[in-house]
Amino acid sequence: MEKKFTEIERLECSLCGKSYDPFKVQNICQCGGSLIARYDLEDAKEIMDRRSLSKRVLSPWRYHELLPLKDPANIVTLGEGMTPLLSMDRLGEKLGLKDLMIKDEGMNPTGTFKARGATAGVSKAKELGIESVTVPTNGNAGAAWATYAARAGMESYIVMPRNGPAVTRKEITAAGSHAYLVDGRITDANLMSEQLQNEYGVFNAATLKEPYRLEGKKTMGLEIMEQLNWEAPDVIAFPTGGGVGLIGIHKAIMELNEMGWVDEMKTRMVCVQAAGCAPITEAWEKRKKTSVMWEESDTVAFGMNVPKSRGDFMVLESLYSSGGYATSVEDDEILRTKQLIGREEGLFACPEGSSAVAGIKKLLDQGFIDRNEKVIVVNTGSGLKYPHTVDASLPLLQPGERISIEMEENVK
Ligand SMILES: *Cc1c(COP(=O)(O)O)cnc(C)c1O
Ligand SMILES: [Zn+2]
Repeated sequence: MEKKFTEIERLECSLCGKSYDPFKVQNICQCGGSLIARYDLEDAKEIMDRRSLSKRVLSPWRYHELLPLKDPANIVTLGEGMTPLLSMDRLGEKLGLKDLMIKDEGMNPTGTFKARGATAGVSKAKELGIESVTVPTNGNAGAAWATYAARAGMESYIVMPRNGPAVTRKEITAAGSHAYLVDGRITDANLMSEQLQNEYGVFNAATLKEPYRLEGKKTMGLEIMEQLNWEAPDVIAFPTGGGVGLIGIHKAIMELNEMGWVDEMKTRMVCVQAAGCAPITEAWEKRKKTSVMWEESDTVAFGMNVPKSRGDFMVLESLYSSGGYATSVEDDEILRTKQLIGREEGLFACPEGSSAVAGIKKLLDQGFIDRNEKVIVVNTGSGLKYPHTVDASLPLLQPGERISIEMEENVK
């Protein structure tokens, strides 16, 4: 058999099914639909056997047959992926769950799972000869794309709302990006990236207008399954904004199911949103196929502040077909849960990841999840990117001042 680095066959429109060549520059279908990568999974199964996989490089690129790159020389990496899947026994006990694990994506370069989308998207852009990219962003995606573009020697034009978090503005600046703030929302930033594409030919890598970010995010699902020794869990919960993370994980499960490696029917996907921006949860509650624009969205979990997603129907489809759920949690509950995770397990979670833990607690109380089920929650980013969400007013001592503490008897 001919040795190939990828088994990608085509890009398929998510709306009309039309095929496109994955070895040419592509954005969206003529009909406006997003393009989804399709692989020859029969071949992939032959080449990539589960035992030899364990000897491969510790990187999302270890699953290269299921990724879109033709030539490994084009890989643009900063050491992303293969993040820990941690048992959370004490936290689980507090919530009333016997088998809770957190996939900690805060360990990635730029501190979020957006690095996975960027390694896939920027590598493929490099392979296609693209020299400049533009990304409209709420912050974390722009930080990742600016960083990986710099690593690839590519120009980046990042456009973000002016109220985007300061730390991501600094990351983007540190990576030498041509960056702009817009006195508006992500939808306004989208229009500006379109203008850069139309007038200057800058490649528009906006989410779901660029086909390969999804493939990068898919590697979270591949890793979770490999880390669980190909035993699918009962539930995977993901803090959802645009929804590419959740769609990606579900795509991984379906591809692995087609290869006969995991049982797709076993895992229910859970979408958790912030109560201040919950269009997909609202649509799920009404059993709709698409969501309605969420007006005046607002949440401390800025990575989830997406009032209307291009991929909403795919998130909803993943929830319906996997027998999953959608729920939402208030900001104060998110911040309380964030504190709980830190205190019980020493994990400095981001608000988004904390919301997913809070969402699981809600579904457990509502009886959708059983205490004996195996539950995986994705902590999508590091708490270090959200220093403003921790109130750290500490007692100030004078040099030489005595500290007196109260200790429990058995600790002495
Ligand atoms: C982008 C982001 C999300 C939401 O991911 P989607 O793929 O857009 O649903 C969640 N958490 C963090 C930290 C993010 O940056
Ligand atoms: Zn189409």
